Amino acid sequence: MTTTTAPVGGPTVPQERRVVTEIPGPLSKEMWERKRAAVADGVGAVLPVFVSRAGGGIVEDVDGNALIDLGSGIAVTSVGNSAEAVVRRAGEQLGRFTHTCAMVTPYEGYVEVCEELARLTPGEHAKKSALFNSGAEAVENAVKIARYHTRRQAVVVFEHGYHGRTNLTMALTAKNMPYKHGFGPFAPEIHRVPVAYPYRWPTGPEHCAEEAAALAIERIVKEVGAENTAAILIEPLLGEGGFIEPAPGFLPRLAEFAREHGIVFIADEIQSGFCRTGSWFACDHEGVVPDLITTAKGIAGGLPLAAVTGRAEIMDSVHAGGLGGTYGGNPVACAAALGAIETMRGMDLNARARRIEEVMKPRLRGMAERFEVIGEVRGRGAMLAVELVRPGGTEPNPEATAAVVRHCHANGVLVLSCGTYGNVLRFLPPLVIGEDLLSEALDVLEEAFAGL
Ligand SMILES: *Cc1c(COP(=O)(O)O)cnc(C)c1O
Repeated sequence: MTTTTAPVGGPTVPQERRVVTEIPGPLSKEMWERKRAAVADGVGAVLPVFVSRAGGGIVEDVDGNALIDLGSGIAVTSVGNSAEAVVRRAGEQLGRFTHTCAMVTPYEGYVEVCEELARLTPGEHAKKSALFNSGAEAVENAVKIARYHTRRQAVVVFEHGYHGRTNLTMALTAKNMPYKHGFGPFAPEIHRVPVAYPYRWPTGPEHCAEEAAALAIERIVKEVGAENTAAILIEPLLGEGGFIEPAPGFLPRLAEFAREHGIVFIADEIQSGFCRTGSWFACDHEGVVPDLITTAKGIAGGLPLAAVTGRAEIMDSVHAGGLGGTYGGNPVACAAALGAIETMRGMDLNARARRIEEVMKPRLRGMAERFEVIGEVRGRGAMLAVELVRPGGTEPNPEATAAVVRHCHANGVLVLSCGTYGNVLRFLPPLVIGEDLLSEALDVLEEAFAGL
């Protein structure tokens, strides 16, 4: 390229799909060879194109291809890449100071983010927060706090749950490959119980909530002991495990059981939070008020930030100095978070997420009628998915899933898969994506199914 200035991303990126080379193109392939030589093979890539800039609903690569983004870097850039308010606020902060360590000398941005978290998270009770760098770190700290507060050790998690890749969070995560395989031994006192997965519930979706809750509670009572249980930890809309919406009634029943037994109910909203499902948090849909909530991903427009927010009396039970970390609540990441939240409010991104559902769900349902390989369409807001099965049954179909992903990638649409069985296509567009791009991406997706 002969331009004298670096390409500018964010709002200035033209909002159009463009495929000018095969994908990945020659320059990306060259860089991939460099990556192979310098980067550990364990760090994979869903689509090995190297990005030059991104903004709105488009990710541009070094070969000049422009892909429609249905992934948001795994539900992170909900406000779009390099969103104006994120760049402005983080840029100003970069010029003032980059780091002091909040545990050494504090600064206002950290407090402001915690004030916003208290306002935005479910429940009207007094709340406090602590800030960290990654989702896994937030989950680890939520468990630390719950154990300290209850003086109990056991943590209950759910089938298909995902909570991160550190030692404790690997133990909390259900799926072996690729997250846990070969990385044991894992942390003890983790107990996994069934989740209300309507599509795969043996007696049918209508019985799912009640039966799954009864089964989970029985397992806690009989095998763990409610009085030994520090926390029940669940994603209110399960992410990596397959965008599973627990059958309505399941979450409120578990929250009630936790309350009756002095168990800390922790909602992991790292993927589902911050407008992703059409409300600030997925818990809001059923009016569930968790004791603690973990957030990350969408919180800061792409900068690394995470939080644990919860009842003041639980958060404050830990001794001074018991929580922290060198970078947790970094001032630039806090400024970015305030920019992201400003964008979410200013553009009403909850409404945008609901509109994305209105545009996408009917199209996906239409495809489900046309193509037998689609077993179910599900999700909320801009956290939508289709589960792929072998025609005539419910046996998972990861091969067809991979084939659809390949077609989309080759034609300039960035999609991700997920699920315990690798058979779920998930859609996580930036909430600022234009409707024309969204429709175009759905056209490509439909072609992919037609070509199976
Ligand atoms: C991504 C994710 C995590 C882990 O977050 P990292 O920032 O990758 O450590 C934890 N829980 C859920 C629900 C997630 O989606």
